[in-house]
Amino acid sequence: MASPFMRAVQELQESLVRAAAPVGPRDGPVPERGAAVAEAAACARRLAIPADLRNTLRSIERAFRAQDADVSALASRAISKLRPWTEPGWADGILARPVSRIPGVGPRRAEALARRGLATVAQLLFHLPTRYDDRRALTRVDELEVGRRATFVARVLATEVGGSRGRGGRFRRTFKALVGDDQGNVMLRWFHGTDQMKETIRKGATLLVTGDVKRYRFDKEIVHPEIERLDPPAAAAAGEHEGRRAEASEDDAGRRAGEGPELDLEALRAVVPDYPALEGIPPRTLRGFIERAVAAHADLVESHLPESLARERELPAVAEALREIHHPGVEADVEALRRRAAPAFERLVLEELYGLEVGLALRRHAYAREPALPIGPDGPRVHAAAERLPFRLTQTQRRSWGEIRRDLGRSHPMNRLLQGDVGSGKTVVAFLAAVAVAERGRQSALMAPTELLAEQHARTLSRLIEATGAELRLDWLVASRTPAERRSVRDRLAAAEIDLVVGTHALVQADVHIPRLSLAVVDEQHRFGVLQRRALGAKAEDGLAPHVLVMTATPIPRTLALTLYGDLDVSVIDELPPGRAPVATHVLREGEGRRVVEHIREAARRGEQIYVVYPLVEETEKSDLRAARESAEKIRRAFPELNVDLVHGRLDAAARALAMERFERGETQLLVSTSVIEVGVDVPRATLMVVEHAERFGLAQLHQLRGRVGRGERPGTCLLVARGVGDESEARLSALLATTDGFEIADADLRIRGPGEFLGTRQHGKLPDLWVADLLRDARLISVAREAALETVREDPALARHPGLRCAVEQRWAERLSLGQVG
Ligand code: ADP
Ligand code: MG
Repeated sequence: MASPFMRAVQELQESLVRAAAPVGPRDGPVPERGAAVAEAAACARRLAIPADLRNTLRSIERAFRAQDADVSALASRAISKLRPWTEPGWADGILARPVSRIPGVGPRRAEALARRGLATVAQLLFHLPTRYDDRRALTRVDELEVGRRATFVARVLATEVGGSRGRGGRFRRTFKALVGDDQGNVMLRWFHGTDQMKETIRKGATLLVTGDVKRYRFDKEIVHPEIERLDPPAAAAAGEHEGRRAEASEDDAGRRAGEGPELDLEALRAVVPDYPALEGIPPRTLRGFIERAVAAHADLVESHLPESLARERELPAVAEALREIHHPGVEADVEALRRRAAPAFERLVLEELYGLEVGLALRRHAYAREPALPIGPDGPRVHAAAERLPFRLTQTQRRSWGEIRRDLGRSHPMNRLLQGDVGSGKTVVAFLAAVAVAERGRQSALMAPTELLAEQHARTLSRLIEATGAELRLDWLVASRTPAERRSVRDRLAAAEIDLVVGTHALVQADVHIPRLSLAVVDEQHRFGVLQRRALGAKAEDGLAPHVLVMTATPIPRTLALTLYGDLDVSVIDELPPGRAPVATHVLREGEGRRVVEHIREAARRGEQIYVVYPLVEETEKSDLRAARESAEKIRRAFPELNVDLVHGRLDAAARALAMERFERGETQLLVSTSVIEVGVDVPRATLMVVEHAERFGLAQLHQLRGRVGRGERPGTCLLVARGVGDESEARLSALLATTDGFEIADADLRIRGPGEFLGTRQHGKLPDLWVADLLRDARLISVAREAALETVREDPALARHPGLRCAVEQRWAERLSLGQVG
């Protein structure tokens, strides 16, 4: 939908075209055409638009109103002048102007705003209030009721700086102000007076006061009220250069109220938006900037949401929504605004999510058009491998494999996310896919986020190959193998003598060629960027895109999955292989080391194996490494009968692989490790997981670690040793105690950390930055936006009929979603 301004400009243009047409004998008089143009220009100029546009329109209006105007000559000139205005993206360009274009925003303020991510007019427009102050019910001072919260205007009658001994005998300066009028008064009291306060609350000043009225002896008082000075504070008057004009309009009202014989209470009644505080910009100043941004731009903002959807959900137009949110009328539903449940918020949130989802849908559409080699139908090797697996696939494994197989059989690339909790058996499914690919004489690659995981995958897969006799030629490529080994792997890959290569991001290096690549499996994808996924995809050399399977053991809440992986189909394995007992989780505190020792002894006595894990923030973090080393030594001394090994990221690959193999074969009973074993390690006889400094791990990480035990038939135990606490770490630990369900954990994690942190995306730029939508709070709107977006793209895949939308999506999301090849 065009913006109100765009519609007005279109009407203006139509009147101009009529005015420019040659006058025929039966046409109306020319002056009427000129008047029509002037009228249309006047309509457009009255909208909320910036001054330069308004001036242009005003000059058009004037010219056409002139008595002796050469209407048709003027019209052709005006037509060419206005031509760029209706080009797609033009209004976005105006909205992308720097905030310094807003009257009152000088260079210093502009810089401060930009530092807070508010560099452009649009960013200012979409900086939404987080709270609202309801100042509609103004009370008179003599009507204040004890026990109620009230807002009122009052003059300062007297002030007093005092002192008192606080708890612990410390001296505290207090501040009191008696405010009121002839009819009544009330005492305002602060228990920590400041000089600033003394300055603001001077005798004679007029204040807008909000607070809870209490009784103090025979009088009324309010402790720590919120106040706003209505007459200009000394500081502002003393010459804050910048923003002075900005403050003026607001202060004018106050000055009138304060100085006039009667207070204009009506003018003060308002619902006042409260914005997240920005360092270096007083709240009132910011409010003024935003108000002026809205007044000068709201009607330029285009809407892209399908009109039918907006109508169905009874949403206001975007410009209305902006006005309502930033400047609610006295009739506003403040409760709904506060809860962000007002239709105005929904409009803006849906607009944003719709744009994002259109971007994702375009990406999905672009993938889906690429040619791929169909793999299938299954041949005898796949059947044999599936038959000879050492266990029966679970129902959800079978369903996922069915979905993957169907995708593989198509002549467009699969793009599927395989989501499943730790130990749910995703690798087996990927293995079957690799067998199917090899059976067609094609190659597969599996990319893991760390060397250790790549090695672990290689081992797991080679066991599966052995057990099923699948005859896959498997090798692995990680940076820490010797140059000769790496060269050999590269050569054999290039000669298509390896069917399945496992590796780290070493696989996407330029010198790696996988000419017959047909399947790219990416494990733990949220650690990689979309770009890497694409880079791996580009390895094939016959112009055919490989099928892509993304595996994640970190359960991602469905809402996030839809957004992050909006271009992927999703398969979920949501059951564990049979016979797994749930892991018992205990949180131990400092000083409960004895219990750890007892658990270790018990597990060892039963012939089971034990992990002890230390946090490691950086692979180079020496103190963490030292802690792990010392712990290994201590355990060796305490349990001389146990074989103890230590693995960490600084061991070379061969030593690490050896240690892991010893543990897998049961030659060592206890493995001390830094967090490198986080994901993927699979030792069914391991039943005890001790996590040291559990408070330093993230929730998802702890859940992964816990998933390392209880993978066989014996029940597992996870001891989380917390040494030091914080609110967040306590919240994480209780979430772990509360549930073992990975999806619930993921939801809790999302709640505790927020979506950006959850995905660690700020560093990697994977989660697109949203201005108004919140993936958690607005979860239910994601699917609404997604459905609408899918329909739009299905009907108009190149967005040829939606040039404005196309332009907006490209500007906002193209880079983030790597939409380069869309279109
Ligand atoms: P994930 O990659 O999802 O964490 P894996 O594929 O590594 O899980 O499987 C975990 C363990 O469960 C492995 O030892 C695997 O052999 C075993 N496993 C997988 N599927 C089944 C099944 N259907 N029945 C029994 N064990 C299974
Ligand atoms: Mg795995």
